[in-house]
Amino acid sequence: MNNPGTAAVHASATLSLKGRTALVTGSASGIGKRIAEVFADAGANVVIADLRQADAKATADAIAGKGVKTLGVAMDVTDEAAVDAGFAEVQKALGAVDILVSNAGIQIVAPIQDFKFSDWKKLIAVHLDGGFLTARAAVRQMIASGRGGSIIFMGSVHSKEASALKSPYVAAKHGLEGLAKVIAKEGAAHNIRTNVICPGFVRTPLVEKQIPEQAQELGISEADVVKTVMLKETVDGEFTTVDDVAQAALTFAAWPSNALTGQSLVVSHGWFMQ
Ligand code: NAD
Repeated sequence: MNNPGTAAVHASATLSLKGRTALVTGSASGIGKRIAEVFADAGANVVIADLRQADAKATADAIAGKGVKTLGVAMDVTDEAAVDAGFAEVQKALGAVDILVSNAGIQIVAPIQDFKFSDWKKLIAVHLDGGFLTARAAVRQMIASGRGGSIIFMGSVHSKEASALKSPYVAAKHGLEGLAKVIAKEGAAHNIRTNVICPGFVRTPLVEKQIPEQAQELGISEADVVKTVMLKETVDGEFTTVDDVAQAALTFAAWPSNALTGQSLVVSHGWFMQ
């Protein structure tokens, strides 16, 4: 099914990020890639930071065609030294980061009684260690530049609600809301705003992988996973799109005051209503 809302959202996008530098983690794919493209369209210089170095560089090269400066950086967000080195590379090439989208993420599904501790730790590390390490590096640059900035964490409807089979993911996504609120309080004195975007299901590689896995775990067809698990609670049976999420990110990134800080915005076709 098509998504009639997206075209209207595109047509109304007039927010500017001209002259700002934005670093988006996990942006060689899916939601992060679209956010980087939309930020470049709004005039930002963008840094594609991803585990997958070749894809990060290819994405950065493609976005450079939009006439902004871009940089592809190899970064494992769970590795303190790699995160700090990546931010130092950005500082040298493009100056201090003004916008961070801490977006890199993975998914692992299993019932808790079968969940391997190593998988729990792996998932928590990408989402929470990654969120902390990238936000800390960004805050340091934002304070040093004197300009402040905007930090956006990629939460999920799972920052608000639980689903079966996702114990570490739901725990981590709830945790990001707490982290964002702390940084919103600490950052205010430095003009640093921090918010969370909470998407519903978006058909990216992360979700494509889950459909057969959940079908197997739950003993239902893949079509039923989409219909009765993923989209059951939406108002229209529609997936959220990468554009839906990117436009929300642009709004947070461009918002000019502390009126929007410490907030979370659910972008889910009504799956979760606050
Ligand atoms: P994706 O799999 O398409 O992209 C994730 C990217 O993160 C990949 O490019 C991957 O290489 C990168 N990555 C993974 N581990 C990394 C690490 N340790 N360091 C650096 N990069 C790493 O996934 P997506 O669906 O675009 O998800 C992006 C974010 O959105 C995630 O945080 C995810 O939890 C969140 N989210 C996704 C959905 C959805 O339905 N797709 C819904 C809500 C929230």
